[in-house]
Amino acid sequence: MNVFDMTIHELHSALKQKQLSSVEATSAMLERIESVEPQVGSFITVTPEQALAAAAAADKTIAAGECQLLTGIPVAIKDIFLTEGIRTTCGSRILENFIPPYSATSWEKLRDSGAVLLGKLNQDEFAMGSSNESSAYGITRNPWDTSCIPGGSSGGSAAAVAARQALATLGTDTGGSIRQPASHCGCVGLKPTYGRVSRYGVIAYASSLDQVGPLTRDVADCAAMLGAIAGHDPKDSTSVETAVPDYRATLARGVKGLKIGLPKEYFIDGLDPDVQKAMEAAIDTYRRLGAEIIEVSLPHTDYAVATYYLIATAEASSNLARYDGVRFGHRAEAGGLLDMYTKSRSEGFGAEVKRRIMLGTYALSSGYYDAYYVKAQKVRTLIMNDFTSAFANVDVMLTPVAPTPAFKIGEKTSDPLQMYLSDIFTIPANLAGTCAMSLPAGFSATGLPIGLQLIGTPFGEETILQAGYAFEQATEWHTRKATI
Ligand code: GLN
Repeated sequence: MNVFDMTIHELHSALKQKQLSSVEATSAMLERIESVEPQVGSFITVTPEQALAAAAAADKTIAAGECQLLTGIPVAIKDIFLTEGIRTTCGSRILENFIPPYSATSWEKLRDSGAVLLGKLNQDEFAMGSSNESSAYGITRNPWDTSCIPGGSSGGSAAAVAARQALATLGTDTGGSIRQPASHCGCVGLKPTYGRVSRYGVIAYASSLDQVGPLTRDVADCAAMLGAIAGHDPKDSTSVETAVPDYRATLARGVKGLKIGLPKEYFIDGLDPDVQKAMEAAIDTYRRLGAEIIEVSLPHTDYAVATYYLIATAEASSNLARYDGVRFGHRAEAGGLLDMYTKSRSEGFGAEVKRRIMLGTYALSSGYYDAYYVKAQKVRTLIMNDFTSAFANVDVMLTPVAPTPAFKIGEKTSDPLQMYLSDIFTIPANLAGTCAMSLPAGFSATGLPIGLQLIGTPFGEETILQAGYAFEQATEWHTRKATI
């Protein structure tokens, strides 16, 4: 079997049994990146020297008899994670030459578990987008059909897994940016509960919504990656002290008697018929496995997209104020201070980021603060309450991830509202702060992957992983590979 076709657990046993070394595995992955990158474009920066050095160090650890699950495993991370000494652009021109002086905690934890970094992945600029088309570093293509988008904003993270350029990746999810690309590229993607994973060293988009999570080939790998990055971080006051369970230990518990809720607002007319079919088949599978299917209601779902685009843009306008040409990032040639601020920002930010800064600044401006920002916060509470009420009766909820499979490159770029509406099923979990994952659940008539979303209670990652694992054992969708 090719190294690049392996899961983490498969490569781990090969490394442990000394069938190959991490240097060999890493070299094979670097070759794979080189061969498919012209068709996919998942990476902004590839780091071969650092990768081979880290792999050599991992081989020493393995020789000393200390082969942990992630020791010597080649991974890649979204370019939103600060990596000490390695350029970090966040998909933006404004950070084109930014070399961070320190690393994100989530990446440090992976590295300390022995993972080998292959490089930094393409994304929408500042994680704003659903298609990866707003990157300043070119588009990423969907490995299943290169005329389609991979999803966004962690499009590179999903495409790299689907094109088998990395065994697993990290992404971030503010309104769906892990789950939607995972769904479009046929991988597993999990957005943990807000507070489960440290956000320290992750370039901020909307701080009350952002979470870090893994994208992988199967649920077992997802559990392993989450276990490695989760936990309290004294450097992020929003990360919680709640103990991290051994997610892998409980995977095989099954779903007998598990109460699965179907929020009726998510099964609407207008859902793509192939998506609809995949959801119906998934519900049947769960019924067959002994789960109890119950209809529930999340009555404020209709307001989620509007609420999100007020809160996320307001927080973004504040977070992005730091890019002023003074301390880091692009600095324009200019006549005076104000001119320098204006020119640096005008030249450095792309169109979508500018649109969001303007929307957010407007929502926060004194005449409109109560009417927009405060109102959106109140509706956010109503949405959170919807989840609390629904979870009084069920253990998890099952929904589509996106209303359609991956769309064509260029199809929605001229209509931002259409793009925003494609996040309708993923945004509510961010507003509620709870965990949710996407896993492969079928294919469209044209051969594009379709994902299924499992939403869990706050800190209920164990349960959604367990439910995802049961589904995966009963189906073969996750074993299919893009023919790239
Ligand atoms: N597509 C959504 C947006 O553009 C979500 C992005 C994200 O989760 N980072 O804001």
